[in-house]
Amino acid sequence: MRLSVFTRRLEMKHTWRISRSSADFKENAFIRLEADGTTGMGEAAHNIRYDETKESMLAFFELAAPVLEKADPWKFVDLMQQIHQLKTGQNAAKAAIDLALMDWITQKLGLPLYRYLGLDPVHTPTTSYSIGIDTPESIKAKIQEASRFPILKIKLGSENDEAIMKAVREATNRVVRVDANEAWDDPKLALEKIQWLATLGVEFVEQPMRSGQLEHMAWLKQHSPLPIIADEDVKLARDIPSLAPAYHGINIKLMKSGGIQEALRMIHTARAHGLKIMLGCMIESSLAITAAAHLSPLVDYADLDGNLLLKNDPFEGATVDEHGQLQLPERPGLGILPRDS
Ligand code: MG
Repeated sequence: MRLSVFTRRLEMKHTWRISRSSADFKENAFIRLEADGTTGMGEAAHNIRYDETKESMLAFFELAAPVLEKADPWKFVDLMQQIHQLKTGQNAAKAAIDLALMDWITQKLGLPLYRYLGLDPVHTPTTSYSIGIDTPESIKAKIQEASRFPILKIKLGSENDEAIMKAVREATNRVVRVDANEAWDDPKLALEKIQWLATLGVEFVEQPMRSGQLEHMAWLKQHSPLPIIADEDVKLARDIPSLAPAYHGINIKLMKSGGIQEALRMIHTARAHGLKIMLGCMIESSLAITAAAHLSPLVDYADLDGNLLLKNDPFEGATVDEHGQLQLPERPGLGILPRDS
């Protein structure tokens, strides 16, 4: 297979701020894998939280190119094992390769990815819409703008948590989920925050504390009035067994798992451990969001809105209807199309 790589600067509609960082744009990498007259496409959204940069992604593609050159795409399971073994980490770049492979395979088969997986597109969940850390006035304005989304995901973890939640509840009585992005770094503080959020009708809380503190998290799970979902604490299927006593559910992202194949293994592992499953994303274009959306009939919660936060999405694919429900494309493969720009 021939690999080609390009990057695109994705501009945010609003400055994107979470507990640890803020950004006005993201420069994601896009790949094409071409063989036998068919081209599969993938996307990598690097995240410094996982030691990824634009340069490290591009370096990984250089490492993978000779392997892909000789590979038979139909042996995609073995091929991705080989790609995973080239280097630890760099899962965003690995995800781009896996997405492009699965796009290629399902185009060749003439099936949309969800159909290849045997899934019913009627069962896609409603996606939440994320609101980054901001001033109370801007948060209220963003909530008005997001009127078609019945579920909001609110980022907390700054000194303004109270002002933010006050603004949220003044603006709406919609379902609200909270993501602290590891910010409340003490189990007692985290419990106080969660107890307070429960009084505001929050549905669940994502990654309240820094990752790697599973004993503290097990204590928190026992005492928490709300379900707690792991995000930064979980990347791969092998992380899941030890998380089961510490969390009620996990947030799977293609950019953390290294693609669709590992995300499917994670879904089944999580189910075997009785965990709830959320499918989330980084700041991604409609290419990677659509890939995740094809898996979404398998999960409980979706937070697949990275593309909706962009000013210049280079692709079209999965969409969101007027009730916030994900709608999958019917075209073969991932079903993405480049957008005229
Ligand atoms: Mg999160």
